Amino acid sequence: MVLGTEATKALWQSPGVEGKNTSNLKAWENREMAKEVYKQLCETTAKRGGMYPGVDISEFYELVEELFTPEEAAVYMAIPRGFNPASTIAENMGKSKEEVASILETMADKGLCNAGRMGETIFYGAPPFVPGIFEFQFMRGTSTERDKKLAKLIHAYKAAVNKTRGATKITFPPNRVIPVDRVVKAGNKIHTYDQVKSYIEKYDPLAVSTCFCRHEGKLIDENDDCGKPNEVCMQFGMGAQFVIDRKMGRKIDKEEAMEILKKTEEAGLVHATMNRQEIDFLCNCCSCHCMILKTALDQPKPGVALNSGFRPEWDTELCTACETCIDRCPANALTLSEEDVPEVHLDRCIGCGVCAMGCPSEAIGLVERLSVPVPPVDQKALREAMKASQAR
Ligand code: SF4
Ligand code: SF4
Repeated sequence: MVLGTEATKALWQSPGVEGKNTSNLKAWENREMAKEVYKQLCETTAKRGGMYPGVDISEFYELVEELFTPEEAAVYMAIPRGFNPASTIAENMGKSKEEVASILETMADKGLCNAGRMGETIFYGAPPFVPGIFEFQFMRGTSTERDKKLAKLIHAYKAAVNKTRGATKITFPPNRVIPVDRVVKAGNKIHTYDQVKSYIEKYDPLAVSTCFCRHEGKLIDENDDCGKPNEVCMQFGMGAQFVIDRKMGRKIDKEEAMEILKKTEEAGLVHATMNRQEIDFLCNCCSCHCMILKTALDQPKPGVALNSGFRPEWDTELCTACETCIDRCPANALTLSEEDVPEVHLDRCIGCGVCAMGCPSEAIGLVERLSVPVPPVDQKALREAMKASQAR
């Protein structure tokens, strides 16, 4: 099967692609063909979904022309769902395996596709913009002129898309919070998927990279610094191997992973990931920069859009009304009652445990919040749960 329209095929056959073209007419034809390829890329990224799918606005084209060469865009579009070897993608394009494999390798280094080795073969996947391509751009934590340009273009695209659709309407939550497990009260059921340490114990390798959301903010404005630690985004298993191979992060051992975890909990960051039991990354989010948390906090009921399945409970005898928990809560879910005891607004509470971690009197513990649905097992189950909730 050969995929791609006449424009993508013509682009590949064009002498201009190989740098041999000298005529103005040919140059003009190539520009027109490239435009057509980016137009098709918009349709493809719209179908591939994610938090920021392709939208036919000028900000999209300004961004993708910086991210992808026309040839890379054509290869991205030819990658079928899931992970595929270069030979399958090349066959889809009617091209040689060597030619397509070389472009795929460059794309993986640029964070335009995923790549993972099984035995001798490398398999490639085409992630959506978010989670995926946008994050990959800033995980290295570098600050080149291109990084700064990309940060502005990505920021402008996200802002323009947000404007076209208003606040994202979340039906079944695509993301979830993992609570600070050491503040869960004894006697409450805590599953392995509720504990970051269970993923740290289970997976090898582990990797850490720069928080792309805080780094994006800094690339746009060097004075933008909320003071939270930056090198705290974790990847597990295959996801970790990808960022290690492509130098987007560094390999860490289990001991360092536990230290990073502790540092994020003390800093009041929220553990957030995809809303499934099988995960390959963990964000440690602040409320001022991070996409997952900020999107949920924009909702009328953040506690429904993003949750851990736990809620805080107070021992009023121990509470000294110091208000530290109120200041630490990233969701503004706490107020002080007339009786001088914190009270929680569950529509806003995401069940992170940041309040409990900071209480000097150890007056707060997390307890189960039974109304929160159990995370689907894997990506397929999450997709089905989201589809079913949209149909309702
Ligand atoms: S931090 Fe602890 S002691 Fe201070 S108000 Fe909150 S619950 Fe009370
Ligand atoms: S009250 Fe705030 S800090 Fe505490 S669990 Fe809820 S959202 Fe997190």
